[in-house]
Amino acid sequence: MFVPAEDAHAARAWEKPVSLSAIDPRGTPDFSGDKDDAAKELEKERERIAKLQELLYAQNTHAVLVVLQGMDTSGKDGVIRHVFSGVNPQGCHVTSFKKPSEAEADRDYLWRIHAAVPGKGTIGVFNRAHYEDVLVVRVHGLVPAARWQARYAQIVEFERYLTLNHVTVIKCMLHISKDEQLQRLQDRLEDPSKRWKFNPGDIAERARWSEYQAAYGDAINLCSTPSAPWHVIPADRKWYARLAVARLVRRTLEAIDPKPPAINFDPKAIELV
Ligand code: AMP
Ligand code: MG
Repeated sequence: MFVPAEDAHAARAWEKPVSLSAIDPRGTPDFSGDKDDAAKELEKERERIAKLQELLYAQNTHAVLVVLQGMDTSGKDGVIRHVFSGVNPQGCHVTSFKKPSEAEADRDYLWRIHAAVPGKGTIGVFNRAHYEDVLVVRVHGLVPAARWQARYAQIVEFERYLTLNHVTVIKCMLHISKDEQLQRLQDRLEDPSKRWKFNPGDIAERARWSEYQAAYGDAINLCSTPSAPWHVIPADRKWYARLAVARLVRRTLEAIDPKPPAINFDPKAIELV
């Protein structure tokens, strides 16, 4: 089951190459309101998502996988907190992918990913995902080039396999500008309540900004397919990115149109004593 890529963010790379630099990170496509309007709309989206998720759980035939990627400080954690906070925790699982553990590094790179794919009736959210294996791994040359180059086709196959097996895959790249990242890193340094989020290692990653943008561009162009399109979400305005992801999730759930299973008993014939 997949959802047609009709929204403003869909990277229809199978029709025309997508250039990240041509997408304004401060843009607010399909939304004309301000921050307060967005907060109100987000609240409504959250309620709709919660109701639809309950039906998804009741139907128990489909799963939704939301893949979140983006540079450091792009707002992945905030999107998770704001978009999924209304969903029943029993029906939603978040997995954050870090540098592989020894056991993970011992396996093929998709092993840990596949193990975390959501079960039927649930929503899974990946905070970073298998794309790290063509992003950080490529930028830092963690494996020989031929190995990461082969992964784009493997990822397309893997996602196609998931899609054919009841998992709808929504891939969002939170697209921020280099200036906005600077601002957010500075905030983390200056605000004592945010300081724990600051990772001195992020400075070294920031220095490789253009290499990361090129790697993101290839991941989007080589792995955006009609059945599992990438969505490039302008994310310099956090309130917009959160609303955009919420809309995408809600639309996906609406397209799945989950319904509770038919009952195989007559409720009137049952006498409770
Ligand atoms: P954070 O999301 O800020 O907690 O950071 C997680 C870190 O783990 C990031 O620097 C990622 O690039 C890194 N990471 C995630 N997946 C991989 C991977 N497959 N190989 C190497 N590093 C990874
Ligand atoms: Mg970090």
